[in-house]
Amino acid sequence: MTDNITRPEDNVQLKNVIAHAKEYGFVYQSSEIYDGLQAVYDYGPYGVELKNNIKDLWWQSMIKLHHNIVGIDAAIFMHPLTWKASGHIDSFNDPMVDNKDSKKRYRADVLLEDKAAEYESNGEPEKAKALIQKMSRLLVKEDLKGVHDLIVNEDIRCPVSNTANWTDVRQFNLMFSTQIGSVADDANAIFLRPETAQGIFVNFLNVQKTARMKIPFGIAQIGKAFRNEIVARQFIFRMREFEQMEMQYFIRPGEEIKWYEQWKEIRINWHKAMGIPDTKLRFHDHDKLAHYANAAVDIEYEFPFGFKEVEGIHSRTDFDLGNHQELSRKKMQYFDNEINKSYVPYVIETSAGADRLFFMVLSNSFREEEVGEGENKKTRSYLKIHPGLAPVKAAIFPLVKKDGLPEIAKKIYNDLRFDFNLIYEETQSIGKRYTRQDLIGTPCCVAIDHQTLEDDTVTIRERDSMEQVRVKVDALKDEIGNRVSIQNILKEIA
Ligand code: ATP
Repeated sequence: MTDNITRPEDNVQLKNVIAHAKEYGFVYQSSEIYDGLQAVYDYGPYGVELKNNIKDLWWQSMIKLHHNIVGIDAAIFMHPLTWKASGHIDSFNDPMVDNKDSKKRYRADVLLEDKAAEYESNGEPEKAKALIQKMSRLLVKEDLKGVHDLIVNEDIRCPVSNTANWTDVRQFNLMFSTQIGSVADDANAIFLRPETAQGIFVNFLNVQKTARMKIPFGIAQIGKAFRNEIVARQFIFRMREFEQMEMQYFIRPGEEIKWYEQWKEIRINWHKAMGIPDTKLRFHDHDKLAHYANAAVDIEYEFPFGFKEVEGIHSRTDFDLGNHQELSRKKMQYFDNEINKSYVPYVIETSAGADRLFFMVLSNSFREEEVGEGENKKTRSYLKIHPGLAPVKAAIFPLVKKDGLPEIAKKIYNDLRFDFNLIYEETQSIGKRYTRQDLIGTPCCVAIDHQTLEDDTVTIRERDSMEQVRVKVDALKDEIGNRVSIQNILKEIA
């Protein structure tokens, strides 16, 4: 995938988003006290809520909005032959190259893509295009010597040693392996799944029969995947342990283009419904098709470092089921009684990364705005996350910590906690409390003040506009619910 050019001001924005994610409890480096583990991250209290909401939206939009899609939760470990059948043992590789002086390892294609980006930013787009085309041709032919020579001819140097003293380019398999059982020999080696899709394929017949599914139908799954990525860059964009949300749609052979187009449309609309603007989303057709696909497109989002893939839509033909049939010797056929024929179904896959979508939502919602006049002018930071996805839905504040206001506020909190994820806070000035909620993207702040004692009303302060409206305590549940319900997004998608 080509890296787009990074503008200096965008780098600042990226740094701000990353710093914000850490400082306000969204994402931490894994094992930070031991100086961290590269490309592995942990989600903090607000991060886990946001990520769960994104996964929940995906799950509900697949399972609830489609009568013919059902879910599964397959194990991470699978029989080793699975990965032979899927092609991952033979071709799930990235070309890598080491610099002999710095001993640093790089992805050969990324070095060339960075060089092309450099041409692009120097106003030489033709040179950039020619380089990418040359590289793609060599990679398709698996001409690794050619890739090495291209790196040398382009005078690409290691950013650490500044030399062009490169090793040969080699293929590096991205799967992690481990042993199962107590005997450590090769026969017991198994892999951590590099994609969730295979758990769906091997269960195709189980699900079709037990849930009595008729083609076309889909199987959806959310789960962890593991890839030993050579270059881990850009925060949670490329991780070694991540989560996928995949759906395989089983169809009649020959109908793949119709369904492929339909799923492209459904999926891009899903991203828009989360509040991602049209202008920041685009389709990017694959130049180099993966070993399993006959058509493939990425949905890309414009991150601060350029347009990048967040989801792939792939027409996988009968590649996977066909290979599993061959290796397992179990029939993967479906009898289609409408046309009175048996066949191995074709598959359209939608494959999104939960972590990349999280990064997209966070980047898209991060706001720094000037507010106030003259001496009171200051920068306001807040997260404009779609209220349906926000980690905390409402914060409940007594204006002051006396006059019976905390008691009323606590009662409201206790009544509403069954419906919403809430925060209760009574210390510090109300201004500071509002600011803290802005920083984690809480859409509603409810303040209990002296007027509450008189007429049973409270204020709701809306995050984006900072406007306040007074509502009856009795109406609070509906008022908040109407604003923050995930169903609002689902209705927009349906
Ligand atoms: P890339 O070209 O960025 O490596 P890919 O084409 O290999 O991605 P797929 O195999 O199509 O990705 O995986 C589907 C989705 O899984 C991607 O769109 C992405 O959202 C997510 N994904 C893949 N690899 C990673 C990773 N290392 N870290 C986080 N998410 C990932």
